[in-house]
Amino acid sequence: MNPDSDYDVIIAGGGMAGLIAAASVAHYSNQRARVLVVDRNPASEPGKKTHNGWTCGDAVSRNSLNYLARNLGIQYGRPEVEHDVKGIYVYSPDHKRKVLFEGEGHLLNRKLAPRRQVTDAQKLGVEFRWGVTAERLLAEDGHIAGVSGRDSEGDAFRATAKVVIDATGSSSVLRRFLPIESYIEREIDMDDIEATGRYILEFDRGAEDETYFTPEYCLIHLDQYLAPAGYCVAPETPIICKNSLKTIGEVKLGDEILTSEGWMPVSGTSVRNFTGNLVVITPSMLNQEVKLTPEHLVRVWNRRTGEMWRRADDLTESTRRNDDYLVVPLPTPAEEIVSQLDSLEHVDGITKDGYLYVTIKRSFFNGRAPDGSWRRKTVLAMHPKRTRIPATIPLDKSCSELCGWYVSEGSIKKKHVTISNTDSQIIARVSRLVKEQGSNYVIWKVLRRGRSKPCFNVEITNSLLARLLESLFGKGARVKRLPSWIHQISRENKLAFLTGMYRGDGSVEHSKRGRSDARSYTTTSHALAVDLWLLLAGVGVIASIKRNKKKNAWAIVAYGHQADFLGEGLKKAVRKQNIGFALGRGKVYLSIRKLEREWYSGPVYDLNSGGDFTPLFNVHNCWVFPKGQNKVNIGLGVSKAGLDRRNRRFNKQDNLQGLIDEYVGANSVIKNPRLASGEDDGDNAKGNWQVPVRRQNDCM
Ligand SMILES: Cc1cc2nc3c(=O)[nH]c(=O)nc-3n(C[C@H](O)[C@H](O)[C@H](O)COP(=O)(O)OP(=O)(O)OC[C@H]3O[C@@H](n4cnc5c(N)ncnc54)[C@H](O)[C@@H]3O)c2cc1C
Repeated sequence: MNPDSDYDVIIAGGGMAGLIAAASVAHYSNQRARVLVVDRNPASEPGKKTHNGWTCGDAVSRNSLNYLARNLGIQYGRPEVEHDVKGIYVYSPDHKRKVLFEGEGHLLNRKLAPRRQVTDAQKLGVEFRWGVTAERLLAEDGHIAGVSGRDSEGDAFRATAKVVIDATGSSSVLRRFLPIESYIEREIDMDDIEATGRYILEFDRGAEDETYFTPEYCLIHLDQYLAPAGYCVAPETPIICKNSLKTIGEVKLGDEILTSEGWMPVSGTSVRNFTGNLVVITPSMLNQEVKLTPEHLVRVWNRRTGEMWRRADDLTESTRRNDDYLVVPLPTPAEEIVSQLDSLEHVDGITKDGYLYVTIKRSFFNGRAPDGSWRRKTVLAMHPKRTRIPATIPLDKSCSELCGWYVSEGSIKKKHVTISNTDSQIIARVSRLVKEQGSNYVIWKVLRRGRSKPCFNVEITNSLLARLLESLFGKGARVKRLPSWIHQISRENKLAFLTGMYRGDGSVEHSKRGRSDARSYTTTSHALAVDLWLLLAGVGVIASIKRNKKKNAWAIVAYGHQADFLGEGLKKAVRKQNIGFALGRGKVYLSIRKLEREWYSGPVYDLNSGGDFTPLFNVHNCWVFPKGQNKVNIGLGVSKAGLDRRNRRFNKQDNLQGLIDEYVGANSVIKNPRLASGEDDGDNAKGNWQVPVRRQNDCM
């Protein structure tokens, strides 16, 4: 600190915070500190927040004013305090629940309150320089030493101080160009900025409805219709996660989920209580019920209009080709085809000369400790059997097909993979594939009691390969699954993989009703059923998932031309469209087979992620603050980045003004609203009154 500074404290910005800081410094230093407030506003317009007026900061608690009275000796009263309230009610989106934050509060007149603050500060000896825009902080020996800027005439301004307080608001230029090393953030993340706007309205009283207006309480509506926040789905809804299938309640922050933008990490999870009718949607082919709250937006596609968003309760069952179809995103085809696997990413081992070897723990004595006892050291060494697999495994046709065989017929016993089948030709084929992968195997035969045909087993005697397959595809019929990279291998390899799967566990169903034969794959793993459905969709086969509740199994069935594709010949899939589905680029459109309503009371969950899984935007609240019997401060706050995202996603042009107008229009009490335009209403809603405010600010 420089003792020769012009002032002890300079406060840049004479808004709510700056003026309280100035009065506090003067008061606590017994008016000995030399304090200067610099503000860009003219002296006649103190506290004007933006060039367009005195927006926001109207509601304050009784406690805050008591604090100022007790500690600074400043008493606020009429006319700067315009109206008194008893507390704040926060309403749930459906207005059925409300939470009361009890405690007296006041509505300030935003134009008169700063005048009072300035007069009080001047009485305490604070100096003011009006019409000065602070541009940069001055630094000396790594410390802030003053402020420079320009006055209203364009002349340079410069003053030094022992302490400088930046109170120029949330979008401070001084902070952005901070000239010293510091932990203070220079730029505020756009996701932390909330755009807010408000009107002061005079109105005629409409219906008496305390959920919309009461002169005695401030109201905050957590509204999700105007700005969709808080869409929710029932707890058992399955979510396709990378390498697993989870219910929405199990999904954690950071899990990667399938969205319209491909795999996206979950950046937020939320749960709330819901009582009412859920919309139960059953898409054709997937045949999996999804239960949504009525306002949840659903992406639909229509032959005539293309893709759009619809509220769940606006959907209709598809009975004709021109009806709405649900949009199901497929895992995005990789820009680069995955053509090899790095073994070390999936199993531990020691790499040497292009191979990964099994390790063994070796422990030996390693000198004596100070107390005389022997020290032991344990190291990982190569296993004497030298079991190995290539460090990089090329994902060719034979490797892909062998993986398919493992998924359908493979089991792991005594650290070895065994693939079993009654068909000796199949066994010959599998052993050839194993040989091509450079692994050893033994074949043994099991005679089964009561069965004429013996069962053949190919046992691959390589424990590393067994660990690799287990880590990629799971172990045990109920938990088998497909890894996410399977959607990124070449089409040729996908077909080879499917050949292995279908020849193993696939079956041909002969239709009773004269329809062509169907190819079906049955599994007791739900995750595998969904993964296989997606994989088939990726090669143009839209199968149907059928649940066998008795056996707790899922059958993935492809009919007609689609089924031929999976037959011996593996012909090209015929991209026929029927009423059940249509194919888009990287998407499948499924018709709505069944729509029902179901009464539900309990928790509903939601996720936030980069893609279009949950079209949330983070914060949205609408407030109604009474300023008198027929006068109200009404506004809303939204996450700026969230609003932009939502507009892009829904192809909308929503802005705060439009959203507030809609909100006021929905209010049953506020009739014939007109902007309050009294002398003291502070350029109410003049021009663009949107102001940024930092979300973390504990401003309300
Ligand atoms: C719509 C809305 C409603 C709100 N409602 C409430 C509410 O009901 N109750 C509540 O407690 N809070 C409310 N807030 C928050 C409250 O308004 C802010 O927390 C508070 O105004 C912040 O005060 P401040 O002094 O830090 O900044 P500001 O009020 O923004 O003041 C900044 C001051 O610095 C001056 N200035 C800016 N840049 C420069 C520069 N380069 N050089 C010189 N001077 C400069 C400006 O002229 C202004 O006087 C609301 C906010 C918004 C956006």
